[in-house]
This record gives sequence, structure tokens and C-alpha cells, in this order.
Amino acid sequence: MSVTPAQPWYRYACRWGQTNLTEVDPGRYDLAWWRAYWRRTRVQGVIVNAGGIVAYYPSAYPLQHRAHALGERDLYGEIVAAARAEGLAVLARMDSNRADERCYIEHPDWFALDGAGRPYREGELFVACVNSPYYDEFIPAILREIVERSRPDGVTDNSWSGLDRSRICHCRYCARRFRAVSGLALPRDHDWDSDAYRQWIVWNYARRVEIWDRNNRTTRDAGGPDCLWIGMNAGDVAGQAGRFRDYQAICERAEIIMLDSQARSNARGFQANGEAGRLIHGLLGWDKLIPESTAMYQAGQPTFRVASKPEPEVRMWALDGFAGGISPWWHHIGAYHEDRRQYRTAEAIFRWHEAHEEYLLQRVPVATVGVVWSQRCVDFYGRDAAEERLSLPQRGITNALLRARIPYVFVHADHVERDSAGLAMLILPNLGALGDAQCEAVRRFVEGGGGLLASGETSRYDEWGDLRADFALADLFGVHATDTHHGASGPTEKSWAPWSNHTYLRLSPELRAGVDGPHTGDEPVVAGKRHAALEGFAETDILPFGGRLEVVQADPAAIVPLTYVPPFPIYPPETAWMRHPSSNLPALAFRDGADAGRVAYLAADLDRCYGRDNLPDHATLLANLVRWAARDRIPLRVDGPGLLDCHLYRQSGRLVLHLVNLTSAGTWRAPIDELVPVGPLRVRVELPDDVSGQSARLLVAATTAETDGRDGWAALTVPSITDHEVIVVS
Ligand SMILES: [Zn+2]
Repeated sequence: MSVTPAQPWYRYACRWGQTNLTEVDPGRYDLAWWRAYWRRTRVQGVIVNAGGIVAYYPSAYPLQHRAHALGERDLYGEIVAAARAEGLAVLARMDSNRADERCYIEHPDWFALDGAGRPYREGELFVACVNSPYYDEFIPAILREIVERSRPDGVTDNSWSGLDRSRICHCRYCARRFRAVSGLALPRDHDWDSDAYRQWIVWNYARRVEIWDRNNRTTRDAGGPDCLWIGMNAGDVAGQAGRFRDYQAICERAEIIMLDSQARSNARGFQANGEAGRLIHGLLGWDKLIPESTAMYQAGQPTFRVASKPEPEVRMWALDGFAGGISPWWHHIGAYHEDRRQYRTAEAIFRWHEAHEEYLLQRVPVATVGVVWSQRCVDFYGRDAAEERLSLPQRGITNALLRARIPYVFVHADHVERDSAGLAMLILPNLGALGDAQCEAVRRFVEGGGGLLASGETSRYDEWGDLRADFALADLFGVHATDTHHGASGPTEKSWAPWSNHTYLRLSPELRAGVDGPHTGDEPVVAGKRHAALEGFAETDILPFGGRLEVVQADPAAIVPLTYVPPFPIYPPETAWMRHPSSNLPALAFRDGADAGRVAYLAADLDRCYGRDNLPDHATLLANLVRWAARDRIPLRVDGPGLLDCHLYRQSGRLVLHLVNLTSAGTWRAPIDELVPVGPLRVRVELPDDVSGQSARLLVAATTAETDGRDGWAALTVPSITDHEVIVVS
């Protein structure tokens, strides 16, 4: 993109730095050293601790606890002045969620109370209630003071959204406001079937949006129209839901998202960062910036706040973020470190980002597969088991797409109409709760020729999580619900025997024309040939399953290529034989109309199984189903060894393809401390009209590659990838 200084800060400042001050830092912050570090790491903005839990300037408000030994010094102001002298953007950092005992003693009514009237505490601190004057009066006054005295470009806030969903505040403000809105008393417990609890959830979300708007009015009023209050947000929807942060509403308001998602988990892998970029850009737009706090210390499991994280672990997290359109923001806890290795980590990553910025921002994803999601579904269907009901199925799908190197985008369930124009198919991974309008949009997509892969309980519940008589999309699936299931989705469902998940799927020996070679799915049905979507399983008649099967009644016209094999013992070995080698229970059903799109409905939760168990058969079958439903309309093909996260974009006159080498990470746990190269890789991309495909640059290898163009595709070879490669085809 062409960066001009005339743009507001949130349009150009993509690389950030944050020295997160601790209370003792006024005595040891070395301003000259940090200025040199800002220059060395090529940051365009810094985040400076201002106030909230601890103040780093002499606030006129005595209830803002000052850092130890701060006295009348304005450390925050000194850092801001230095940053301005360096030409950097500045965000003042707040944490408005908690305060100390003095504040509690003077204003007990500002703080959240449990059902017995005791204050909720976090360690030594007290948790402020979002409905109290603390948020309505005290925080706005602090924001105004900070903006007026130091003129930052904006304000971030670490844990701005107050008490999380696991705790109900019973203070008088909450009681009064909730009754005014709902006519009801506050819920006493977390009963998702009670009207009071449901209204409480919706009301809590609305209050956070009010706080977002209110804080923005305050900072803009005090600091001008570009002085934004931008909180901080999480990289995963379950995390946002747990804190009542409505990602859709926030992205409708935000000019930039400051993402606090600092490290991978072993369950989610580096690819979670590229996924977060896809998901948030899908809401926010691909023209806006998403800087992400990346820990230079050992964050995750276990956490060591002042020990250095291995450089390859930081690097791979950041690079997968780049692939998803996320930009870097280094984060150190404390201003002085005895483990100085962490000061070496950011420089190379940030300099690479600066040198190639024009290819990393302002681009549009190229994908024909859309993975549908909904935060409301996470709440009202996921309830207290969102990981099992929604995160695992989604993770299974996205990891199967990753493994198959199929590019995809995330599509919010409210945006199916808006965002599905270029898509060949949609995936609904166990989206249990969908509203009527959301289902109608999916139906129109399929009627218009779009493919669909849906699994499990998708559309079985309405937007409140109330059970419907049948799947709302039963007509598309070609099956009907029966209110029974076999197996379990995970720990929240009790198994009746230790081997109750020792189940299998049987591949039907039927269907499709008796011609040799791969089948298009368009031939007449003939016994003896398997369906095209079962390619790759010629030498087996069964697949391991071990998950939950929705028992469904298939329509006569539905094709059933997989059926369920009920459980049988595992131990002792003598007993491990199939009591019932087959059943007529469908595990998979196809609808393949001539006019409408192809639909695959998975009654067996292979998406969740793959997310949980990592069996390659499940991933292979899921990828087959995607290709079948998309009628093979996939714009990218990458052949060669390794686990690669592929993100494809277009800019004017060129394609940009990220290949992130997750091979090492995919086979062992965090943190990694060595990178193992893979290659050569043969890459083929479909060319848009304005891309000739005659030249290709490899930005990381700093070389060009020969291209071979035919039939609207360009092919090239990437000799080797250590951490990542970014290929620009023009
Ligand atoms: Zn309250």
C-alpha cells in the first residue's frame, strides 16, 4: 500500500512495540536504550502504560494507585515525548478492570459482588462492576485526563470488559439496570434454559458495546476524531464469548483491532494465528490493520514472564500471523531484563515485515471454500461446552483444509449472502444453533449452485439454543432428525462402557458408474463402484470412528456412502470382534441435484474427531468431501512433503501466496527451538484475469522462479522452505 503521512495513525501504523511496565520500572526504565530498540525493530507505534490499575503519571485522582517510587514523576509522559521525537504513534495503555483496596474502601459500590454480597477479587485487587459509576464516571474522567495532558493517538485497555461470563454480579446497579431492561430479577445461576439467564447474556453483550461507544466518545471529544479508544480483543471466538465481547459489533465500530493473542497452545498450533487473521479480517475488512501482541517472554504453558521465548517459536507464530494479514507487535513484560536474549528476537522479524509490507497488507483473499461461524452459536448452543461442541469441529475442519492445502475464508452466519459470491462451497461444522434467516441464506446459496458440507447437529437448534422438531436444513441435507444419537462428543457426555467409542464406519460398496478411473459423480448409479468422495480408501472397507453419530432418517433420494458400525469390546483381545459388522444407520449422506449445489451431511462427527484425535483418515475424508462439494473448484495446488499453511491473496495485477512451514511444529509440542526445511514443492495457482503468471518472485529466498503457464494456471517450483515463503506471481 502507499503510505502517506496524511493518513490517520490507524491506517499506516502496523508495527508496534510495548514495554509493559511493572511497578518497579520508574526506577530502572532506560529511555535511551528503549529508543534505540524502537529504531532497531522498525516499529511505527508504541503502547505506553498510562493508568488504570497502576498509574505512571501524577494523576489528579488520588484513587488511581501510583507505581512504587513514581512520586511526582511522569514516566508515562517522558516515554510519550520520546516516542513523539522518534515520529512514532502512541497508544496510552489502560487496565480498567480492577482497583486496589483503598479504592474499594472508599467506593465499595463500584465493585462486583457475588450472590452472598462479597466482592469478587483477583489476587490483591477488586474487580470493578461494568454497571457502576467506576465505568460511567471514574474511567471516563481518567481517560479525559490522560488524553488532555499527553495527546496520545488513542487508548488501549487490557481487560476492559469487566467480569467474565463465569461470574454473575449481584450489585445494586446490575439489579436495577437488568430489571429496567428485562423486567426480571438477576439470574441466580447459569441456567441456559431460563429466560432470565438468556436475557442476562444478551444484556451483558449490549453493555460492553455501550462501554466501547462511550469510551470512544470520551477520547474523541478530548483528543479529536482520530483519538480512538480500542480496548483489546482475543484471537478466538470462545475467548471473546467468555468475556461478552461481541466481535461482530466491535468490528463494525473499529478502525483497527489490537489483538491480544500472544502464543500458540499445543491443541491449536501456529495455524491458529493465521486463522484468527482470516476470521477477524472477515468481519473487519481486509483493508484495516490487525497488530498483534506477541510475547518475547515464555508465554503459554508454562509461563515465565521474564525468561526469553525460543526465537523460532516467536518467529513461527508471527509468520503464520503475517500469512493471515496480522502485523507484528513486540511485547516485553518489565523494562529491564537479566535474560537479554529476548532483545534479539524481534529485529529480524520486524525488518522483514517492513521490507515486504506492500505485499502483506491491503489484499483480498482468494478462496472458494467458506467456513461458517457464529458467536451466538458459541453462546447459546456451545453453552458451557463450547470447546467440545464448536471449537473442536471447527478445528478439525480447518486442520483438514490446512493438511490438504485448500485455501478458505471464514464467513459469519449473518454474512452468508454478503460474502459467498465467489465461493464454491460452504462448511457448517456442527453449527447447532442457527436462526431462520441464517438458514434461509444457506438454502439460497445451495439453490444457486453452491456446495455444502454440514455436520452433526447443524441447524437442529434455533438462535436461543432451543431444539427444533427437525434440522432446519433437513431438506438440504436429505435426512431427518430422530432425537437419538450413538457415542459421545466428549467428556460432557458420559459413556456407558469403556469401549463405547470403539466404533467404525463402513464404506458402502455401491454407487456410480462402472467405468475405470476417477468418477465425477455425474454418472448413473451402478453397484460395485465407490463414490468419488471415497477416493483413497480402495484397500479398506472400514474406517475408525470413535465419535458421536446423529441417528438420522435418510430421504429415499439420498445417497449413503458410509454407515455406522456399532461398538464392540477392545479388551481383552479375544473379544475384539464386530458383533454387528454393519447397520443401516447413515454416517454420511449426499444430495446431488442437477440444478442445486452438492450437499454432504456428516451424521458422524468426523470434524470433531479429527480436531480431537488427529487420525489422517478423517482428514482425508473431510478434504475429499470439500473437493466433491466444491466440484473441484480449488484455486491452488501444492505438491511436496510437509505440513504447510497456505494463504492466497490477490492485489492489483498479482497474486501473493504464503506457504508457512509447520512441519516441525505439527509433529511436536511448544515451544520449538529448531526449524527443519521442506522442499522442493510444486505450486500451481489459478490466475485471475489481470495476472499473466509470467513471473514469480520468492520474497524470503530473495530470488525468482521460472513459471510455466497454461489453461489459466501458473506452475512453479519452490526449492526449499525453512520457516516460510511468500510467492508473488505477476
Ligand atoms: Zn454489578
